[in-house]
Amino acid sequence: LTDEAQAVLDEIEEKGVDFLRLQFTDILGTVKNVAVPASQAEKAFTEGIYFDGSSIEGFVRIQESDMRLKPDPATFAVLPWRDGRSARLMCDVIDTSTGEPFEGDPRYVLKQAIARAEEMGYEVNAAPEPEFFLFEEDEEGRATTKTADHGGYFDVAPKDLASDVRRDIIYGLESMGFEMEASHHEVAEGQHEINFKYDDALSTADNVATFRMVVRAIAAQHDLHATFMPKPIPRINGSGMHTHISLFKDGENAFHDDDDEFNLSSTAHSFLAGILEHAEALAAVTNPTVNSYKRLVPGYEAPVYVAWSDRNRSALIRKPAARVPAASRIEARFPDPSCNPYLALAALIHAGLDGIEEGLDAPDPIRENIYEFDEAKREEYGITTLPSNLGEALDALEADEVVQSALGDHVTEKFIEAKTHEYDEFRVDVSQWELDQYLEKF
Ligand code: GLU
Ligand code: MG
Ligand code: MG
Repeated sequence: LTDEAQAVLDEIEEKGVDFLRLQFTDILGTVKNVAVPASQAEKAFTEGIYFDGSSIEGFVRIQESDMRLKPDPATFAVLPWRDGRSARLMCDVIDTSTGEPFEGDPRYVLKQAIARAEEMGYEVNAAPEPEFFLFEEDEEGRATTKTADHGGYFDVAPKDLASDVRRDIIYGLESMGFEMEASHHEVAEGQHEINFKYDDALSTADNVATFRMVVRAIAAQHDLHATFMPKPIPRINGSGMHTHISLFKDGENAFHDDDDEFNLSSTAHSFLAGILEHAEALAAVTNPTVNSYKRLVPGYEAPVYVAWSDRNRSALIRKPAARVPAASRIEARFPDPSCNPYLALAALIHAGLDGIEEGLDAPDPIRENIYEFDEAKREEYGITTLPSNLGEALDALEADEVVQSALGDHVTEKFIEAKTHEYDEFRVDVSQWELDQYLEKF
């Protein structure tokens, strides 16, 4: 037993935790968990907990289904409900036939990206800004799209009735060790954003997975439904998950340069150029649902065009103002909270590192509102657009070896398979919009 694992056992004892929820995500980013009584904790750390991987989306076929969960003691956190008697541990998934990490485990995919950065001398920091809606439930307890409040951007009570829920969510997350940064009512009615402090990329992905679970559970305690669906209401701002990234080398921010006009180092310029270069394929991973592409349209503060900017929000990547050198970073504005945070971060990191390795130069930042550019002007500036639907994004992924190798063969294959199926289902469906438009007209 490692010291870290022993410390967790002590904490379990001390806090009277009864149940451990051993968690991991499938390739879609859904949190899966195997609950074990706390008495199994020692065994979980020493031998791992066996489970059948064949029923997990994107994992394995039935004949090779024995998997083992290896809990990461650094992720121990008591969940803010059931009187503090159950705790989460994020796990690595081990393939029992080889004893090696299972290559279909999204956490492993991210670890590989972090390892590549380490080989290049970098530590990766990331901070997400997940947005979500709080909706009322109907009599049967099913989610509606009726908002529970009528607030607007940064509004405070009494208009912001959902602020009670947000406060409970923040207390809950704080009790789990999240360092909260800020929270506010977002632009749309019923829309919220809660930010937590940047951390190393792995902890950040773990945090996003847990965050979504905690937000939904606490909202449900208030009879509200929290959704991370990117665009629940047409013609209203959708929910993004802007992701801030910086690389550190020898304790210094490798993205900062005092002498640069934007305070970004050439490393940062190359990293962001790598993301721009692979943006279309990245979108399949960072914006992986049919609905994601309803958000990526002009006019709602979500990016559409493959460009970067030091000021406006219509670009794919923004350079936020930084008060101190350590805070110099880039903000990828296209990811949305329906993504698998492990895969999304892994893909962004690899694309950026590739930009560094290839010595890519970033184009000039665009300072105007790109939503207002016409096609000719976009062409003049060399600005391309993000895929306009999931099908196009999947095509781009199939043509992009850098993003594919970021995911690894196993995940690439399973991901494309699952997502192609999802897109095909959508394609053959007939929407309410079509019925409204055509049923009586033709
Ligand atoms: N909700 C916007 C989006 O879809 C972002 C608003 C903001 O800048 O925070 O990305
Ligand atoms: Mg926001
Ligand atoms: Mg932001």
